[in-house]
Amino acid sequence: MTMNAYATTNHYLEQAFSALKLGERYETLLLTPTREIRVELVIQMDDGGVGNFIGYRVQHDNSRGPFKGGLRYHPEVDLDEVRSLASLMTWKTAVANVPFGGAKGGIHVDPNRLSKRELERLTRRFVQQIDVAIGPTTDIPAPDMNTNARVMAWIFDEYSRRHGFNPGVVTGKPVELHGSYGREAATGRGCLIAIREVLAASGRKLLGTSFAIQGFGNVGSWLARLLHEAGAKVVAVSDIKGGVHAGDGLDVPALLDHARATGSVIDFPGSRSISNDDLLIADCDVLVPAALGHVLTGANAPHVRAKYVLEAANGPTTIEADDIFRQRGVVCIPDIYANAGGVTVSYFEWTQNIQKFRWAEAQVNAALEQHMVDAHQGIARSMKELGCSMRTAAFALAVLRVKEATDTRGLG
Ligand code: NAD
Repeated sequence: MTMNAYATTNHYLEQAFSALKLGERYETLLLTPTREIRVELVIQMDDGGVGNFIGYRVQHDNSRGPFKGGLRYHPEVDLDEVRSLASLMTWKTAVANVPFGGAKGGIHVDPNRLSKRELERLTRRFVQQIDVAIGPTTDIPAPDMNTNARVMAWIFDEYSRRHGFNPGVVTGKPVELHGSYGREAATGRGCLIAIREVLAASGRKLLGTSFAIQGFGNVGSWLARLLHEAGAKVVAVSDIKGGVHAGDGLDVPALLDHARATGSVIDFPGSRSISNDDLLIADCDVLVPAALGHVLTGANAPHVRAKYVLEAANGPTTIEADDIFRQRGVVCIPDIYANAGGVTVSYFEWTQNIQKFRWAEAQVNAALEQHMVDAHQGIARSMKELGCSMRTAAFALAVLRVKEATDTRGLG
């Protein structure tokens, strides 16, 4: 059985609905996205021609607060994927208990084929096309795959040109431009706290625990750095060009320098090369998909040697793989908890923008720590009450919070 991303997310949600014994009324209410926007983005290319790209913004639910979610630039972006990611954001903001709903945006584009000027024009055109639907109290975008602080700065600037100074319209901005200390590291730091809490619940420590990480972008590289600092062993990492492996643990600070200097982790001195497929079945305690969705499948799940899968990426595990992991006792730490650190610190950034007051990095990190620990406790309680997997428990916790807000506000 192969399913698309949205069907996979809905399947996981339905498992939570069934564990909670929720009726059809709520299933309809909670599964239906509020708004789906598709825009044509025609821009001037550097060679004098015109380029035409398709952009999406899906606003899934705003019963707990403004729509919130990242913006992805990738050649595989389509409406189905954006729908799935928007829904995941609704449940993620609820698990992390930050006062937002869920949304996601994406542009179907290979950003590596565009110059910086073309990317800027594309980003500004996207803001021009969706600016009626976003805003600091309406819908607040953030970085995701292939978008970063610079792209967020263009969004802030373009929106502010049209609506006046408005840094709270987007998060993940550069620290020099109303961003928050700690935002860049936040998703990786949140992943670290999540796995630390899960290990601690079974009496284990990060120290000496081995990790294999697929993806060495914002999330994967920060997580690798923080794991290394915490005394864990990062035995393999990869990016789109391939991977590197060292059984005794990679020298992560040197690897970061190498990746910065060469643009990839491959050919890192002292390591042996490994394919992205082999990384997923490498010998390690914790496997971390931190790149694309649907990489763990019915085909490779039986061969995964890790005892834990830490879902840093959104939607990395297919339904078949999830079933196999459950049967094999491999613990999946679901994306809606594992990578919630990013949106949590986005919330702190938005708060600082509204307060016009900057928090120190230590304050940001302490508040992030509290949200991630509290979320873990909520999920653990839900697992105990419902006797279910961590994924179902996390969805159930989120569904109850969104249901409560929906019931209290009423349908209007
Ligand atoms: P990024 O663009 O910074 O990095 C992506 C990494 O994945 C790069 O190293 C890239 O080379 C690698 N990659 C791309 N295609 C690949 C392939 N086919 N095989 C192997 N590696 C490949 O993106 P990011 O922000 O680090 O996001 C990574 C994942 O984390 C995504 O699923 C994203 O939705 C999720 N996420 C990101 C954030 C955030 O704050 N950035 C928050 C929550 C979740």
